[in-house]
Amino acid sequence: MKDVYPFREVEEKWQKTWAERLVFEAADDPRLTKYYCLEMYPYPSGRIHMGHVRNYSIGDVISRFQLMKGLNVLHPIGWDALGMPAENAAIKHGIHPQTWTLDNIAHMKRQLQRLGYCYDWSREVNTCLPEYYKWNQWIFLKMFERGLAFRKKSWVNWCPQCRTVLANEQAAGGVCWRCDAAVEHKEMDHWFLKITAYAKELLDGHKLLEKWPEHVLLMQKNWIGESEGAHISFPLKGSSRTIEVFTTRIDTVFGATFMLLSAEHPLSRELLAGAPEKERRREEMVRAVRAARMKEGAEEAEKEGIDTAKKAVNPFSGEEIPVWIANYVLMDYGTGAVMAVPAHDQRDFEFARKYGLTIRPVIAPAGSPSPEEHPERATEDYGILINSGPYSGMSSSEAMERMAGFAQARGFGRKSLTYRLRDWGISRQRYWGTPIPILYCENCGTVGVPYENLPVELPHDVRFTGEEGSPLEKASEFVNTTCPKCGGRAHRETDTMDTFFDSSWYFFRYTSPHQMDGPFDPAVASYWLPVDLYIGGVEHAILHLIYARFFTKVLRDLGCASIDEPFPHYLAQGMVTKGGAAMSKSRGNVVDPDEMIQEYGADALRLFILFASPPEKEFAWAEDGIEGCFRFLNRVWSIVEEQRDLFAEGASPSIRRDASAGLTLLKKTHQTIRKVSEDIGKRFHLNTAISSIMELYNLIRKEKDSLRPGEEGRVVLRLALESIIVLLAPFTPHIAEELWERTGHRDLLARHPWPAFDPELAKEERVTIVVQVNGKLRDKFEAEAAVGEAEMKERALGLDRIRALIEGRPVRKVICIENRLVNIVV
Ligand SMILES: [Zn+2]
Ligand SMILES: [Zn+2]
Repeated sequence: MKDVYPFREVEEKWQKTWAERLVFEAADDPRLTKYYCLEMYPYPSGRIHMGHVRNYSIGDVISRFQLMKGLNVLHPIGWDALGMPAENAAIKHGIHPQTWTLDNIAHMKRQLQRLGYCYDWSREVNTCLPEYYKWNQWIFLKMFERGLAFRKKSWVNWCPQCRTVLANEQAAGGVCWRCDAAVEHKEMDHWFLKITAYAKELLDGHKLLEKWPEHVLLMQKNWIGESEGAHISFPLKGSSRTIEVFTTRIDTVFGATFMLLSAEHPLSRELLAGAPEKERRREEMVRAVRAARMKEGAEEAEKEGIDTAKKAVNPFSGEEIPVWIANYVLMDYGTGAVMAVPAHDQRDFEFARKYGLTIRPVIAPAGSPSPEEHPERATEDYGILINSGPYSGMSSSEAMERMAGFAQARGFGRKSLTYRLRDWGISRQRYWGTPIPILYCENCGTVGVPYENLPVELPHDVRFTGEEGSPLEKASEFVNTTCPKCGGRAHRETDTMDTFFDSSWYFFRYTSPHQMDGPFDPAVASYWLPVDLYIGGVEHAILHLIYARFFTKVLRDLGCASIDEPFPHYLAQGMVTKGGAAMSKSRGNVVDPDEMIQEYGADALRLFILFASPPEKEFAWAEDGIEGCFRFLNRVWSIVEEQRDLFAEGASPSIRRDASAGLTLLKKTHQTIRKVSEDIGKRFHLNTAISSIMELYNLIRKEKDSLRPGEEGRVVLRLALESIIVLLAPFTPHIAEELWERTGHRDLLARHPWPAFDPELAKEERVTIVVQVNGKLRDKFEAEAAVGEAEMKERALGLDRIRALIEGRPVRKVICIENRLVNIVV
């Protein structure tokens, strides 16, 4: 291409200028209207990838736009710098995790700077530095004091490949979230955070998250897994013990003909004392259950039972019922014990059939007076109670209320909620994490490290062998210490924290990153928070986004934070793909951002990654796409250069609304300003904003020669060109800033006020656009005249009728005729 604009010099020049003039430093000034735009911070793996470029370019456009709108914008970045890959590099290549991490950060920081992002680098946060993780330890100790951090022996998910414990969230489906190895179960001492204490609030808080994608809320809801029901205690006959069960169907309690315990239930072993053969079978069952836990669909295993020969008493009827141990009752749901109602629960039904236990119907389906004599399966519907003493004849819902009330009054039960959510296990047997600030003293037991002794720093000189156990265990100078309470001998906890701890509150730290006497300054945090817009991949829907919400509530209860929810607006950006698959090293379809910047410049890369699809949709990489964007920028450059004399004519005179010459271009300019303002500010439709700027460019090209001769025409032409430069500023800030300067402006475009539009001139005519599928008229929609092709396509393909019609069939072609028609060929 001839006359390629000098993007390398231009980009370097403006990056330097912005940095020198501290253009993007946010002021902690409560008199200003703030806007906090946050993107998920990167793990310093070594290189920025296209997923980062997409995520950060979206945030950058919005931040720059809000800045030009006059808001006080906080747009920070940092590093999620602790974690396993650094340690693996240490084991493999003998490089210290800290060296590896800091080198990577230096490189990636340079990459981000070359992309021209408007970060406030004075607030950079790095979680692997003691000045950050000190506050992890502080928060941990506050939680420890309140019983929100606690240690217990427990069965944990263990990844044999990563040689560490995983949270349930990280072992979903029985495989390690990081390396896909099959997860094993191990019993060990382990630190937990009591996230379950906030289960109800995490669920109720969804009401405040209207601006979250529906499917993310649903994933969280399922993860928390609330069910409404009742706890009831069944006395164990001939003992003072009781067995507590949770049931969602207390209305069927008269049909409870036996009880079931999980093989892992603490009572199971006790009840089998003196029955060695049965105890052996129970142990076998425990092993099988644990093995099955690792596979999906484990519930379908053949039902197995062991009769304990003990009886429990139904507190409602006084009936004595046998107690069995069953392989399908799980210890990690409810209480690990259930009242079995075979007539109305299919799994209990199959169990009762197999072992010849009583099946007694207690619910007659609505509209039928009595149940079948010999049913072939359980009926799980609600209905009218029968065989239920004083409750017979009541509806299920009435009986549920009355029974729960009766149980509560008599002290053997209560209405209750139960959750699938488990407490969050945070112990990791690895080096490159925050040391858990706990000591074990021979006299005093478990002792928190005093606040004045924080941080507990990671010892630098340790050996990374890759053998089982944490390298910290062998660092004797670290391990051996004295007790701060009694001065006696003590040893340190060698587990480090799950790195999701770090990312659960980093967005607070950005508000006062250099705070020395607390994790952050509560007053400054309450000015900036909540985050106005949070942008990041949907893969964090149930890990990071639940933990961060949990921490916010804990920090609130500690008196540090004044908000309930950290991210009222979450934008989940879509994946970056190439050739139909996510970009990944193993597929060999990775496009390196550095190479693209080298060849086309950062502006062209940014423009393309934002132009090709709306932020929340998948983005498919295409070489000719970036070339097209690069060509467009060159054309803008050339046309401004060609018309530069217009700008030498002094301040632009005002333009009359009824300007006779150039009215079409004048209107188009105002329409474009309006469209871009709304697309960025209200809808985040960055792609259609860009295409409308391109349309404005096309019209300028078409009209410029006829407009140049007249005075009025020259003014309109100049306004249109100037508008293109300003509107491009959030997307392609370097070229825009350069052209701004070249056209005689003295101020920095990055802080120039966003243009206003004249509503009268910006008004668009409405048109009806018909939608065809394979040439047949199927639907239509209303739009503003001059709606762009990209938007016409998007809206047509988004219509319910059209979606239903083309469901499952690949779209081969979409033909658009301006203001009239979209034809979809499938
Ligand atoms: Zn693993
Ligand atoms: Zn002590």
